[in-house]
Order: sequence, then structure tokens, then C-alpha cells
Amino acid sequence: MNIKKDFPIFKNNEKLIFLDSASTSQRPNPVIYAIEDFYKNYNANIHRGLYKLSVEASELYEEARKKIANFIRSEYEEIIFTHGATESLNIIANCLSENLNEGDSILLSEMEHHANLVPWQVIAKKKRLNLRFIPVDNEGNLIIDEKLFDNVNIVSVAHVSNALGTLNDIIRIEKLAHKNNALFVLDAAQSIGHLEVDVKKINCDFLAFSGHKMFGPTGIGVLYGKKELLENLEPFLYGGDMIKDVSLNDSEWNDLPWKFEAGTPNISGAIGLGKAVDYLNKTGIDNIKKHEEELTNYLIERLFELRDIKIYNPKERTGIVSFNVNKIHPHDIAELLGKEGICVRAGHHCCMPLMKKLGINGTVRISLSVYNDEKEIDKLIETLKEIIKRFD
Ligand code: PMP
Repeated sequence: MNIKKDFPIFKNNEKLIFLDSASTSQRPNPVIYAIEDFYKNYNANIHRGLYKLSVEASELYEEARKKIANFIRSEYEEIIFTHGATESLNIIANCLSENLNEGDSILLSEMEHHANLVPWQVIAKKKRLNLRFIPVDNEGNLIIDEKLFDNVNIVSVAHVSNALGTLNDIIRIEKLAHKNNALFVLDAAQSIGHLEVDVKKINCDFLAFSGHKMFGPTGIGVLYGKKELLENLEPFLYGGDMIKDVSLNDSEWNDLPWKFEAGTPNISGAIGLGKAVDYLNKTGIDNIKKHEEELTNYLIERLFELRDIKIYNPKERTGIVSFNVNKIHPHDIAELLGKEGICVRAGHHCCMPLMKKLGINGTVRISLSVYNDEKEIDKLIETLKEIIKRFD
């Protein structure tokens, strides 16, 4: 895919080999220009002013919401702007906890990012709820046992594991959750922008993701919720914009989605995210998926050439590949690769319980995007071979 030219970071850093897109992706020109354009030409607060700039800013912000709604096949009112997946998951955990009682159960998995674990831990402690976990095997596959879903109230899992790249069987998880009348929350932080995420097909009740992993700006994310469910939830944050009427002792909440958006939002971030969605649509999610699949197969094939390597290889996977080389600390590998301009992530990847389960401190993680190519993987393998030789 001849797409690198759209991302100015590569022009400005000629030797850069960026293999850390699960951490944050790079941004294409239209996203960068949109942010600049906003601050240069429309900067004003939204939903407040009656003057032209504010009206324009409000229109652009709401237009971005429409683009995102179309992208995940939701209704417009079902898209709540947040600061990222972490905030979306905290909001939904807190909102849902209002309707939970002592002894109720939440089902997560052992591979969850801390963002989809810690908020549930905190509310579980506060409200004396039970946490249950879908176990993970040694290659990073979830072991889904129907019994785990008995009398569960909420199921919240990742679509794709940020640590091992596992593509979870969310269709099965959704069926089991709903068969047991549980609500189904999906953490789509690592799937959005890489494969189709259609909330109607998935039938999740809530969905969380960040803009910065899908070519959008940092500090903007989305919480999707089914309209009828959002309507019946109390907001989590209170203040300006989320109200319809306020008197000294009482307030009435605004309509969806603004009921959940208190205070001045990340206006340029939302507009930039709208542009990222345009870019994804133009490139085509199926083309992106195909490119990343081919490159992942090539990466794994070449990684197997290395001596003493353990590659985590779940049955269904995406372009995130984790591995360890015997006797070499993942941080040493990442640091030495970094010296050659090759950016990879090393460590626990905000999944400490998963690392504990696998009996390791961390892994080296390669995460691919649409702008990566085979030549970069060749350079990675060549450099890894030299590093391994050096440690002999
Ligand atoms: N969930 C998953 C699976 C993630 O990979 C991440 C980010 N690494 C998050 C949640 C949190 O995203 P953010 O830091 O953008 O809020």
C-alpha cells in the first residue's frame, strides 16, 4: 500500500520504522490539517455562542459525531465523546454500578488492559460485587466456558488483546452474555481502524475506543451505548452542557448524547477524529485488514527464523505480535532496536495479570499498521539477528 506519503512523520524522520501502532498510531495529513484549520479559522466554544464562529465550531463537532456513528453503524445519539477508551470504560463501569447490588457478578477476562480491569475492581470493592475471569491459555486464547456466564450481570472484554494480538470470539461471548441477561461491554481500542466494528452486527450494549489508535488525535475517544440503555442511566460527570434546566436545588438532564458530555469537550480532537474516519473510509477497512494480515503472516514467518524465540501465537489474531528471546530482557531488545530507529514496545503492556499468568515479566511487542511494509520487517529481523548474536 503506497500510503506512507500521507503521514508526514516518515518524511521528517527518514529512517523511522514505526512498529508500535498499538500504542498510538501516526496521523495522516488531513487529520493534522483539520486541527490546524480549527484553531486558525473556527476556534470558539461549542453549543454556547450565537455568533458565527461558535455555530461553525458546533456544526463541525456534531458532523464528526455523525461520521463516527456511520463508521460503527450506530445512531447519532449513541455516540458520546470522551477523552479516550480509559475514560469511556470508567464512565460505563461507574454508571452501570448504580444498578448493581451486593453479590452481583462481573465477568472480564485474564487478558484485559488495566483500563478494562481496574475500574471494575474499584466498583466491585465498593459495592461488594464478584469479579470473574475468562481464563487465557499459554498462547493467548480465551478458554470460554459457558458456566462462567451463569447469573452474571455484566460481561466486559477486549475485542483484540493489546498484549498478544488475540482476536476474541466476541460473537460467542455476546450470545452467552445475552442468553444470561447480562449487559455486554466491548473494549474495541485495538480493533477499531483495523477491522470492521459494526455495533449492530456485534450487538454489544456498550463499546469503548480511543481516537489516537485509529489515526485520530490524542485526548479524544468514544463511548457508544444503545440508546434505550443510555436513556435509563444516570450521568457520571455533572456541569455545563449536560443539563436542560437548573434551579438552586435541582437539575434536569440534557438529551442524549450531551447528557454524558459535561464541560468543554476536546473540540479539535473530535473534528480531527472525524477526519481520521474519512481517511479510514477512503483507504477501505477491508484493504487495511488484508494488508495487515499479509504483513502479520510475513512477520511471523520471519520471526520463526530466530533462535531461542517464543512467539505468542493465538489461533485468531491481528497485527499485534508478542515474543520473547531466551535470556534477553525485552527492554534490552527494545532499546537496541530503538537505537536503529526501530520503534517497538516492551514490557507488560498494561496487562500485568496476563504477564503473571504467562509467568513472564513482559514481552517485546510489534504492532503493525497500514503504513508498514515487508522491507521494514526485513530490517527488523536483520537487526534482531545481530542483537541475539551480540548476547551470545
Ligand atoms: N484497552 C485496550 C485494549 C488498549 O490497548 C488500550 C490502550 N493501550 C486501552 C484500553 C486504553 O486506551 P487509552 O490509553 O487510549 O485510554
